[in-house]
Amino acid sequence: MKKYNFNAGPSILPQVVIEKTAEAVKDFNGSGLSIMEISHRSKDFQAVMDEAVALFKELLQIPDGYSVLFLGGGASLQFCMVPYNLLEKKAAYLNTGTWANKALKEAKFFGEVVEVASSKDALYSYIPKDYTIPADADYFHITTNNTIYGTEIRKDIDSPIPLVADMSSDIFSRPLDVSKYAVIYGGAQKNVGPAGVAFVIVKEDVLGKVSRPIPTMLNYRTHVENGSMFNTPPVLPIYACLETLRWLKALGGVEVMEKINIEKATMLYEEIDRNPLFKGTAVPEDRSIMNVCFVMSDEYKDLEQEFLKFATERGMVGIKGHRSIGGFRASIYNAMPKEGVQALIDCMREFERINLR
Ligand SMILES: *Cc1c(COP(=O)(O)O)cnc(C)c1O
Repeated sequence: MKKYNFNAGPSILPQVVIEKTAEAVKDFNGSGLSIMEISHRSKDFQAVMDEAVALFKELLQIPDGYSVLFLGGGASLQFCMVPYNLLEKKAAYLNTGTWANKALKEAKFFGEVVEVASSKDALYSYIPKDYTIPADADYFHITTNNTIYGTEIRKDIDSPIPLVADMSSDIFSRPLDVSKYAVIYGGAQKNVGPAGVAFVIVKEDVLGKVSRPIPTMLNYRTHVENGSMFNTPPVLPIYACLETLRWLKALGGVEVMEKINIEKATMLYEEIDRNPLFKGTAVPEDRSIMNVCFVMSDEYKDLEQEFLKFATERGMVGIKGHRSIGGFRASIYNAMPKEGVQALIDCMREFERINLR
């Protein structure tokens, strides 16, 4: 039976990425050696790093003055590296969910933190819109896609102070105006590659403004100056990321990707809205095109486990919702083909036919 991987992260990767990475594990560039057993300073790996950085810049049209870094520690280490490097007195955070909260919590180790708005009162089912960004804060932090709650900020917002964004689960899902951001970061394992590497896009002129000493490995400057090679970078995950970026470029880049993503998300949300058994959890205007969260309608609550079993038996993998909201979550990242979304829709329709006859 064909399986469709709706896991939230680590998550689906294009088949070609898995195959090319497997090849490089066995024999990298015809060298007779595995990519796992060569020096990160070798000419062949330097070419991988250079091309990955170049494709990041090309695909996202990153302007001059920004560096692209590949670092260990995941997005969660960035929750601490951002304030370490940027927070002198005060920072502002938008609280849109679990990950936003975790980022905010780390910033408190470094100074005053203002929560400009929160949607916690409504189980993070929407993105707050009425808030003022304090002009005297050092930066404003947002989480563009709330992986757990299925809400997304899909427009680049204007901020009077440096804007920092956790884009772990929606980077490369749409074109971006990078010039509006000071820092963009995320773990690779949602939309770019396997776990083990985080990407950071940092505007160089926002660095060097805090008075505290910063340990070498936690200082963005170290990694900017050393091209992410101050120490041994996560070689194999970076190679897999490069293959994803090549795949994305061959497909036509982020404009084409966004179109496909909107089509996939629209198909699935239309079914959720039409099918009396299900209802979406996020308010329609803030719905994510990456993580689609839904539950059984109130009168059919007792069918939840049954639908999970039904869909699993038909090849749907990873649609169980996050433990904090329950229900279902279909993560339809870039690599999820339209036929996967259609297969899930078919399941929902068949389940309806059986139960509402
Ligand atoms: C998954 C996720 C994280 C955590 O990433 P790690 O690499 O595991 O630290 C942070 N933010 C968002 C939005 C996520 O989806």
